[in-house]
Amino acid sequence: MISYQGAVFRPPSEANSLILQATLGCSWNRCTFCAMYREKQFRVRKLDELRQEIRDYASMFAPPRKVFLADGDALMAKARFLADLLRLLRETWPSLQRVSCYASPQALAVRSIEEMTLLRELGLSQYYLGIESGHDPTLVALEKGVSAAEMVQFAQKANAAGVRLSVMILLGVAPGFSQEHAQESAKVVNSIQPRFVSTLVVTPVEGTPLWEDYQQERYQPPSPIALAAELREFLQHLNLSNSIFRSNHASNYLALAGTLPKDQAAMIAALDQVLADPQNAPFRPEWLRAL
Ligand code: SF4
Repeated sequence: MISYQGAVFRPPSEANSLILQATLGCSWNRCTFCAMYREKQFRVRKLDELRQEIRDYASMFAPPRKVFLADGDALMAKARFLADLLRLLRETWPSLQRVSCYASPQALAVRSIEEMTLLRELGLSQYYLGIESGHDPTLVALEKGVSAAEMVQFAQKANAAGVRLSVMILLGVAPGFSQEHAQESAKVVNSIQPRFVSTLVVTPVEGTPLWEDYQQERYQPPSPIALAAELREFLQHLNLSNSIFRSNHASNYLALAGTLPKDQAAMIAALDQVLADPQNAPFRPEWLRAL
């Protein structure tokens, strides 16, 4: 059977996917806001263990439509290992429609376009990339480990390999630089032209440097109104030719979704309404928000 090691995370859109822990933890594991894999040492799992898990699952359940390769950074595993795993998935479930994984910028930096192309041909066709911000001082403060220019350069390797990108921007991470963060983040996303863009609201989680800053009152989470203004600024500066936008992750105070550019004006108008009349804004109550 599949026995998961430690806490397992997946993007909201992978709710119906089979989660396979191809790797454990995150090779970077330093982002100041992220507590997901702090207790784990990054390692690639043995193909034999995964073969057994896949066999066991296949003997008990119907073939999955989608597989998500966990944990936080599966693309950091060697291309040969990933290719063998993808072949195994294909042989077991010929009807499998998609395999996806998180891709840290560090992993995108080391994987070549040729490797990503081969893996995409074997089924690994979508990466989730946490851009978080396009504002360099904010990227430094978050210890993301790359600059905005590098983020674009690495993401474009995935584009060149024909891999679909789903990128995330964090709202509320740039106290004092909200506008710059929103505008610079939009610039980075515009340069990448990903298929999916989503925004999440940063939430201090115990065990992280951000939590320490919060406890010591060096970080004050922005109000829902300030976050709505930041989201509006971000949306206004997006210039995308065909992307799906969502701010419906549970961490958000406001749930918006649409296709860009088609729905851009309507989403900005909805935010204008919120900013003009905050008392009646459809904010998600604090107790319903979650990471
Ligand atoms: S790269 Fe992703 S998983 Fe790794 S520490 Fe940063 S946010 Fe967390």
